[in-house]
Amino acid sequence: MACALATGPALSRLDETNALTCRGFLAGCACARGNERNEPVSQTVQAKLVIIGSGPAGYTAAIYAARAMLEPILIQGITPGGQLTVTTDVENYPGFADVIQGPWLMEQMQKQAAHVGTRLVADHVSKVDLARRPFRIDCDSGDVYFAEALVLATGAQARWLDLPCEQKFRGYGVSACATCDGFFYRNKKVLVIGGGNTAVEEALFLTNFASKVTLVHRRDTLRSEKILQDRLFKNPKIEVVWDSVLDDIGGSESPLKVTHARLKNVKTGAVTERAVDGIFIAIGHSPATELVAGQVEMKPSGYVKTAPHSTATSVPGLFAAGDVADEVYRQAVTAAGLGCMAALEAERFLAAHEQFRAAAE
Ligand code: NAP
Repeated sequence: MACALATGPALSRLDETNALTCRGFLAGCACARGNERNEPVSQTVQAKLVIIGSGPAGYTAAIYAARAMLEPILIQGITPGGQLTVTTDVENYPGFADVIQGPWLMEQMQKQAAHVGTRLVADHVSKVDLARRPFRIDCDSGDVYFAEALVLATGAQARWLDLPCEQKFRGYGVSACATCDGFFYRNKKVLVIGGGNTAVEEALFLTNFASKVTLVHRRDTLRSEKILQDRLFKNPKIEVVWDSVLDDIGGSESPLKVTHARLKNVKTGAVTERAVDGIFIAIGHSPATELVAGQVEMKPSGYVKTAPHSTATSVPGLFAAGDVADEVYRQAVTAAGLGCMAALEAERFLAAHEQFRAAAE
């Protein structure tokens, strides 16, 4: 880790508690992240802006913040690149006439963010303290960051049905990611649960491998875009089972694997059994808000609440961008737009704060 960020005017602005920690950091810096026994030493880093999350929102915030000379630090999390890294074809991200791949797009965003001066950190944030600024951000590695402003771009996670059988077979025939696991179902029969864009895209993607794909939806109309529905209905490998939910999963114990699914028609109550090898749950996502739960105002839906037409949250200096705050659009391009807004708003916030501080001194 570069030590330069702990020096300069930011350091003099630390409160007393933080300053003590920071002196420790400077000492740590001198020994270049190691001690006599060659064990890694945790570091404390002071930054103007920290961005948590490495999806389109995080990387776009980083690109704008770096170009505004905020020297942003972006902490990437467990899955660098976010949801797009488990997506295949992307044909609705503007700027690309040909179909591009999700992982490739995220790789480009990461490179662009690094190229303009973002410091990328491969670490996972375990705790955030928003009680006072600079905000304190603790990472799994033991490193601690103090940020004058923070962009939360932690995205959203796949939702599960929470059936006991789903938990039992997760990783053994039950998955929430066709892109990751579809390959294992060559010439096999699979179910996809859900009726949104994710479910339909996953069903279409799985036809590349599976002999048959059955989409099970709890209503009699799909929520997904019409263009995707057209493709779904035209695909001879796909069957749609309407008004039905997954009731139970059956399988063998040794080896643990799925062999059949029990479906229940929600209108008639009729229960049917189907022989399947894999079940893909594609019923949407939940915003990843655990880090800030109880510290910032949330919407009843569980997403972080932001001011109208803004990424500002109820905590001054904290900006929320992308799927963690957007329950309506949830697109890569809208997440990127919100990331841009967050960086511009953070820049204004820091400038106003600087002016206020200068006037007070
Ligand atoms: P979504 O639009 O919220 O759809 C979730 C689907 O799962 C709905 O059909 C819902 O049924 C069903 N569902 C939810 N809970 C269920 C349960 N307990 N049991 C059975 N079914 C359940 O989620 P998504 O498909 O992940 O899409 C999320 C957002 O990302 C959307 O805005 C979507 O447009 C976007 N997205 C875009 C792309 C793209 O543009 N390429 C790709 C993927 C996602 P109901 O319909 O009855 O509510």
